[in-house]
Amino acid sequence: MPRKPFICCNWKMNTTRAEAVALAEGTARTAAETPAVEVGACPPACYIEAVAAAANDSPLLVGGQNMYAEAKGAFTGEIAGPMLADLGCACVILGHSERRHVFDEPDDLIARKVRAAFEVGLTPILCVGELLQERKAGRTETIVRRHVTSGLEGLPKDQAARAVIAYEPVWAIGTGETATPDQAQEVHAFIRTLLEEMYDARLAQTVRIQYGGSVKPGNAHDLLARPDIDGALVGGASLKVDSFRAIIAEGAEAKEL
Ligand code: PEP
Repeated sequence: MPRKPFICCNWKMNTTRAEAVALAEGTARTAAETPAVEVGACPPACYIEAVAAAANDSPLLVGGQNMYAEAKGAFTGEIAGPMLADLGCACVILGHSERRHVFDEPDDLIARKVRAAFEVGLTPILCVGELLQERKAGRTETIVRRHVTSGLEGLPKDQAARAVIAYEPVWAIGTGETATPDQAQEVHAFIRTLLEEMYDARLAQTVRIQYGGSVKPGNAHDLLARPDIDGALVGGASLKVDSFRAIIAEGAEAKEL
């Protein structure tokens, strides 16, 4: 079964409410025009409800940028999986490099979040990827192996098959520097071998692996033309409807859809 490409926006801590709604409307139109690509938008948590309303009646999936691992309780400032689901989210970004490196989230917390997401029917987008110094030290595979194996630890096969993994080399996020298609493909193929080791070949061929890190209209085609790159997680270039629409169009063309 071919993997349906999945291209998802991460608006991070950007937009006003009005900007988020306008972006959602434009992105929802793009999603409707390109049904062969699954399109998602992860707005700031405070605008999820407004974005979900704007995306209503469109195929645009709405997601959270993060969540806590517990369903409720005394965790001031956190948002729970059931709350995201209640707001209409279908997916949630977990283990984003900014969560790992700015907020020091450890592997075991991220793994608990992944399991908590599945408990409420949210698809986790598990972000994995190495720092620049780790790449330079030849440790890319070691780091990616650790992120993937710990992130999926304990997940039954039926859940792991539905997880989305985003390979996001940290040195390429928000820097304008993109991994070359060869560099990205190499790591994506490595992630598939890991999935085969952890589960089986069939599951390894089922899981969608996005690339993230300064994806823009000018590089989306070459990245998505690679066989193991099933989509993209897009930050900066998703903040303008036109550039995100161009990325979707390039991705669809690269996959010959
Ligand atoms: C991201 O936030 O996940 C990301 C990849 O950002 P950017 O596209 O801006 O590098």
